[in-house]
Amino acid sequence: MPPGAALAVAPDALLRRLRQRHATDPVTHVERVPPRAGVPAPWPRWAPEELRAAYARCGVATPWRHQAEAASLAYDRQHVVVATGTASGKSLAYQLPALATLLADPRATVVYLAPTKALAADQLRAVSALEIEGVRPACYDGDTPRAEREWIRQHSRFVLTNPDMLHHGVLPGHAQWSGFLRRLAYVVVDECHVYRGVFGSHVAHVLRRLRRQCARYGRTPGPTFVLASATSGDPAAAASRLTGLPVTAVTEDTSPRAGVTFALWEPPLLPPDPTASPAPPPRRAPDAVPSTPDADTDTPLDGAVRNAGPTLSTGASPAGRRPPAAGEPADLVQVRRSALRETADLLADTVAAGVRTLAFVRSRRGAEVVATSARRSLDEAVPGLGDRVAAYRAGYLREERRELERALLHGDLLGLASTNALELGVDLIGLDAVLICGYPGTRASLWQQAGRAGRSGQEALAVLVARDDPLDTYLVHHPEAVFGAPVEATVLDPANAYVLGPQLACAAAEAPLTAADLEHFGDGAKEAVAALVDAGALRQRPTGWYWRHRERPEVDLRGEGGAPVCVVEAATGRLLGTVDGGSSHFLLHHGAVYLHQGVSYVVDALDLDDGCALVRPEEPDWSTHARDVTSLSVVSVRSYVDAGPVGLFLGEVDVTSQVVSYQRRRIATGEVIDTRPLDLPTRELRTVAVWFTLSPESLAAAGVNPADVPGALHAAEHAAIGLLPLVATCDRWDIGGLSTAVHPDTEAPTVFVYDGHSGGAGFAERAYGMAAAWLRATRDAIAECGCEAGCPSCVQSPKCGNGNNPLSKPDAIRVLDVVLANLPQ
Ligand SMILES: [Zn+2]
Ligand SMILES: [Zn+2]
Repeated sequence: MPPGAALAVAPDALLRRLRQRHATDPVTHVERVPPRAGVPAPWPRWAPEELRAAYARCGVATPWRHQAEAASLAYDRQHVVVATGTASGKSLAYQLPALATLLADPRATVVYLAPTKALAADQLRAVSALEIEGVRPACYDGDTPRAEREWIRQHSRFVLTNPDMLHHGVLPGHAQWSGFLRRLAYVVVDECHVYRGVFGSHVAHVLRRLRRQCARYGRTPGPTFVLASATSGDPAAAASRLTGLPVTAVTEDTSPRAGVTFALWEPPLLPPDPTASPAPPPRRAPDAVPSTPDADTDTPLDGAVRNAGPTLSTGASPAGRRPPAAGEPADLVQVRRSALRETADLLADTVAAGVRTLAFVRSRRGAEVVATSARRSLDEAVPGLGDRVAAYRAGYLREERRELERALLHGDLLGLASTNALELGVDLIGLDAVLICGYPGTRASLWQQAGRAGRSGQEALAVLVARDDPLDTYLVHHPEAVFGAPVEATVLDPANAYVLGPQLACAAAEAPLTAADLEHFGDGAKEAVAALVDAGALRQRPTGWYWRHRERPEVDLRGEGGAPVCVVEAATGRLLGTVDGGSSHFLLHHGAVYLHQGVSYVVDALDLDDGCALVRPEEPDWSTHARDVTSLSVVSVRSYVDAGPVGLFLGEVDVTSQVVSYQRRRIATGEVIDTRPLDLPTRELRTVAVWFTLSPESLAAAGVNPADVPGALHAAEHAAIGLLPLVATCDRWDIGGLSTAVHPDTEAPTVFVYDGHSGGAGFAERAYGMAAAWLRATRDAIAECGCEAGCPSCVQSPKCGNGNNPLSKPDAIRVLDVVLANLPQ
């Protein structure tokens, strides 16, 4: 279908057709997001005529009101964050004051930071198109030829780069940049909501190092920061944490937008399996509580494979039935039809209707399963039609990606199943429908994905298909949490000692640290410097702290995820793709089944030293599921709330975990074939946790049998982990949990939820601060799930180290009611 062709089916007619698939209506809510007319504003008086004319040439007659408002704040040298929707024109808000300043002061400079090279390249095109004389915008990143770098440092006044380049290139070589830094007027931080967790905490210090170098070269007052963010809860606070400066937020979006029909879709519950054994779930006597408590071995995974295990098994099993895990009580087997299968069917339906559709799937395995399954059903209907559906993900090699992009643009492809690799910086527009398989974790991502739908002047359809996950369940029953004011905040923790220490080492290697410098780096800087002196990394002299080594410190902004592991086909030496280091234990262990482009491989060897996994093509009739074991001890308590029978705590904990085995499960039936041991190293984590305790008496008074306490706490813990992304921009897979009827360190029934990164990433801290709202939503998600005894949509966890056993759904609600009744609101 050529771009611009009429839409085959109107969005509401298409939705009507789709929702007829099931006997019960899977749609829980339809939000008609109306088209919005923009609110224009006059050019600010300070905007020079030359710039207004340049924008007019590019088709911008006047700014929207939010653009003018943010631009004027920035021009007045106030730090500002623009937090508005996708495609609301945030770039004009920083280009206007920056370029006006460059025109007024022929020596001033600007640095622009993007999270991806592609986005920086887009911005370079946009700024170059304005053709402002003497600005000489240029990208400066890893791809910039050596020969051009010198010229850029000397002559460009608008440098587009990324935090990694700042960290590895510009700041260590600050002397060569001294002229540029002395004259630096603006620092633009685009897509700043991406800087969250450990990565965000590192970037926060890179920005402090930048400010410090500007000051050293005589830039006082320092440069003005202009940040652009997706909509989120409290963007001013997040931007302030990121920059270390007071920041004003502009949040009202006054740009026009196309109308979208947005449906929330909950796949139906499947009837309980009549063949399942009716045996009652095993119960542990209270005195039989093991010394190692129930651990959610869900050691957080990173990157593309977060939900690979469970989604693989769901998608690959017949009728979407998720196979029971070992030890999973039969009465917990009731599940919803899988979101993957549901999305695959919807994709097949829209493609059959001639509608150009993009399906977003969280895991790469999931995207491949959706594409394969949609292809199969289309081919059954019309042989050959399946060829018009494909899968796309970041791990693909560049040539494979480009070919898929081209085919979709030219209409050879009508349906594409993708991971969120398409979210940033890839220009793929003109889609008529977007299917979002599972909440992508943040509203920013949700709207970015939904924003792919809609061509100018035409209405589009977006469908959020709920996964069997407590957060998804909550959202499809609480449309106000999707379409109302956001509460999730971008979370980072620059005080994390595991980030602060290495960053101070980098700063000292750039120039000796003075006592005044430490102020820049915030809480904990003095202690961190003392620790670096003790470790022999810094030497204290009367003039400051000096880096003692010849080599620069090696610091990875992305934390301890480890180098990516290459997946190599042993027989041919062909590189199939990469998997991040932290996930390799789960995904690429010996014997793991690994999918690439719908082709199945089996791992023969994982070499962690060489960072490579050798695989061979093979299609066994089982899938593999890694398991790990976890233990936790409390190191210190940072803050607590004493609420009678309930206690709420924030503090440091030590977590030890190890991938110890994997299960093989028959794809056709979900039957567990066997569990095989693995020999992988343990991983230790000192991190931050939030935990709550309840007195045994309060539980008894609420009607929780002592024998059911472990199952009640365990179920509450699973759901609480699932709901945390509602208040903090984390992924359920960034956090871990552990619950026990009595923990040796608290001597009480306890539920722990911890950050999966050394030193913490700010998630547990946010959960502690928002505990009442977070646990209220957790309670509601469990209570509102239609299942009887607990299912993956409420209290089961796909990454439970205890095989989701024991779990008690009704008692979890009682536990949370006790907590909420006592906790101050
Ligand atoms: Zn349920
Ligand atoms: Zn568990």
